[in-house]
Order: sequence, then C-alpha cells, then structure tokens
Amino acid sequence: MSAPRLGNEGFSSPTPDTTAGPALAAVPPPDDADVRWAVHRAMWTVSPLRKVRTCRRFRFDAQAEELPLRGLETDDRGSLDVGVGGLQTCATWHSCLCCGAKIAVGRARDLAHAFSVWEALGGTVVLATFSARHHLGHSLRTLVQAQRTAWKHVTSDRPWRRLKERLGVRFVLRAFECTVGDEAGWHPHMHVFLLCDPREWTTRKVPWGTEGRTRTALDQPIGDPIGITAPYAETVLAESWQRWCEGLAEHGLDAISYILRSGQQESAGFDVKVMDTGPETSNTDMARYPFKMALEAVGSVFKHGRDEPGRRHRTPVEVMETCAVAIAEGDHQAADADARLISEWSRTATEMRFRQCQWPPLMRGWFAEKARELGIPGPLLEDEATEQELADADDLGTETIAYISAADYGNVVAYELDTLKAAGRVGGMPAIVAWFDHRGLAIDLTDHGTRLHHKRAGADPPSPPVPHPLAA
Ligand SMILES: [Zn+2]
Repeated sequence: MSAPRLGNEGFSSPTPDTTAGPALAAVPPPDDADVRWAVHRAMWTVSPLRKVRTCRRFRFDAQAEELPLRGLETDDRGSLDVGVGGLQTCATWHSCLCCGAKIAVGRARDLAHAFSVWEALGGTVVLATFSARHHLGHSLRTLVQAQRTAWKHVTSDRPWRRLKERLGVRFVLRAFECTVGDEAGWHPHMHVFLLCDPREWTTRKVPWGTEGRTRTALDQPIGDPIGITAPYAETVLAESWQRWCEGLAEHGLDAISYILRSGQQESAGFDVKVMDTGPETSNTDMARYPFKMALEAVGSVFKHGRDEPGRRHRTPVEVMETCAVAIAEGDHQAADADARLISEWSRTATEMRFRQCQWPPLMRGWFAEKARELGIPGPLLEDEATEQELADADDLGTETIAYISAADYGNVVAYELDTLKAAGRVGGMPAIVAWFDHRGLAIDLTDHGTRLHHKRAGADPPSPPVPHPLAA
C-alpha cells in the first residue's frame, strides 16, 4: 500500500478555467481540512481502535452502492467546498482527528455560551490547573489514576464545601488535557473551572483576610462584575493543593507547585488564574478560553513552527500528525515510536473512559434558562447534541451535488480527497466533473449539481437533458 500523501502533491489540474484568470489557475495550498484528512487517513492503519480505522473509510449503509457528494458554495461563482456523505463515523473525541475537531468545536461553542451568560450575570471564573511530576517511566494510566485519586481528595466533604463557600462557587467544570514530552513523557493535567458568584462570596462573613473583598456585589448592576483577585483565589485554593498532593502520594507520585527559572517563579504543577472579563467580550479570557481548549485538543494543524525532536511537547493530535509525516517520508523508526504513543493514548483513553470536559448534572439546563431570560443567543438554547450527532453534522448550507460509486470512494476518492477538494475550490463543479473524468470514474450530478455546473461554466441549462444510456 502506498504511503499517504500530505497536502496537494499529485493534484491533477482540472479543466482549464477560462473565467478564473491566471491567479486562480495556480494549484491552491492545502488547507487545514486537507492536512487533517491526510493525518486521519494515516490513522486508518496506525490507530489501535477499530472504529477509528473505519471512520470515514467505509460506507455507513453496507448495502449502499452510491454515496452523496456534498458541496457548500463558498462564493457567488460556484466555487465549492466538497465532502463525501453517507460514511461511517466514529465520534471518538480523543483519537479521531475528523470527529474530534467537530466535537471539540461543538463543545467549545456550548462552553463559550455558558461563560458569556455567566459574565453577563456578573460572575467570575477561577481557573485552577493541577498536575503531577512525571518521567518517561510513568505510564499514562498510572498518572491518570493518581490524578483521579488526588481529585477525590480535593473534593472530599468538608474542606471542599468550605472552599466553595469562600469563593461562592456555583458550578465546577473539569477539563482534561494531555501532552507528551520527549524528555519527561506523558503530562496529563486538569483544568478546573470554578464558576464563582460574587453575590455569594462577598456577603458571607468569613474570618480570614479581606483581600479581594473590598466592595459588596449586591448593589452592582449586571455588567459591572466584581472580580475575585488572583491572590485571594490562590490563598483559598492553596489548601486544595495540599490535598491534591496527599492523593498523589497514595500512588507514589508527588508534585511541585512552583519552579524557579532564571530567578523567576514559574508555576509548574499548580496554577490559579482569574479569567478576565470586560466590555470587549469577544476578547476576554472567558470568551477565548473554550476555543483555545478546542484547539489544543485538535489544533496542531493551526500551529506553525515545530520543536526539534528530543525537546518536543506534543498533544496526542500532534503525535498523529508527526507520525503521518514520518510514514510519508519513510522514516520507519520515528513512525513506529509515534505509533506506540498513539496506541497507548487511544487504548488508555478508551479503557479509562477519558472525558474532555464533562458538565455537572443540571448545569446545561440552568444556563439555557438564564440565556433565555437574558436574551443571549447561542447553542445552549438548542437541544444538546451528542458526540455522534456533532461528528455527523454537515456544515450549514451543504447540499448534495452528485452521487458517486461507493466502490470508487473506497478505492480511489478516499485516497485523493485533497485533490478533489482542491478542484472544487479552484474550478467548482466543472473541475469536479473533470476530476472524475480524468480518473475514468462515474459521477451522477443532481439537479443542484447541474445548476452549479452551468453557473460556473457560464452557460444556460440545456434542455432537454441528455437521457441516461440505460433509460432507453
Ligand atoms: Zn472519527
């Protein structure tokens, strides 16, 4: 089997586009989706998970002989963003680039909506990060198990109740992230979002320090939130850090909260941050963070520049990407090393049921109700989508433009989807038809596809249509 290609190598020029002008006749660079697809295709052989190995490789309906070619018009000249429908999808957030990207973006939209509601209510979000010291000898399973125990210590009855009271915590969200370092191995860590209601914490009489409690919140109008200061939050959370370390110790692990680098104190295992809010709501931590998190889960393709092997800190998705590149370059040693990491990641995540960011019960309904009251539009006002629904969702405005043979998809199209997509972007429907003709493959345009074809070719729809040869 030939190695998967990255990018647009092998792009065969569609029909010369006389209306496009010289600039558009050039081969377009691969976009993020092309890179994702090339990496995903490599995972068809690398992933230890059967459902990832079959995701978007085989048809959903085993009886289907045709698959819909789906298209989204990207300009008024009929340029098309194309994809193939009717395929199996795996909905595995942690191990599938294609499904993971869609799930992460869907979940980020929910979280961003909840944060915007919380911000409008005058609430604050404290973000605490917990991790442990680790080295190459630790398995991912060992580290995650220890952190689960440690989290139980943090949230054990009384101290946790007291902490929540001190900060006015109404909701707790836990997000899981993981990177792997060449030098120190797996680095799973936990981001804990504490949604603090200032009306709660400022009105309580608590017998310790007043830092950060200089105003009362009750007379503040919505939109003028009172922030909890970072030193205040750190003071309160310091106790939970102790408990975290006790939990790690049960598994023979430890953690250090700070390291000194060039004389500067830098947070290592523990970090507390108060997410900023402000009138520029699109540019605050609270608005940005959910999407930053989504990008960390699936976003290597958005980064530019790479660390040298030996010093890398990669997300699992970045490991998949370097693995795909190593396979394409024939670097078996690097590919095998990455494949071992991918295997450990995917198996452990499946067996231990890793969740990316699970919402506590009732939180979604509570926020949906507030969003409705405050008139803040967003995805929480819709029914909650399952991971499978997010993975299967079509892009808005996408329509079926043609049908292609399921066999051709499996044998040819799946392996050259990047060039097909490039053809659609450059030359619209005529270029797509030319792409299929060039390979001797059948394509059956729908009425919509026919209209797009004529629109791009600048001709009137012919009438009567050419009869199908078998119709006679
Ligand atoms: Zn998938």
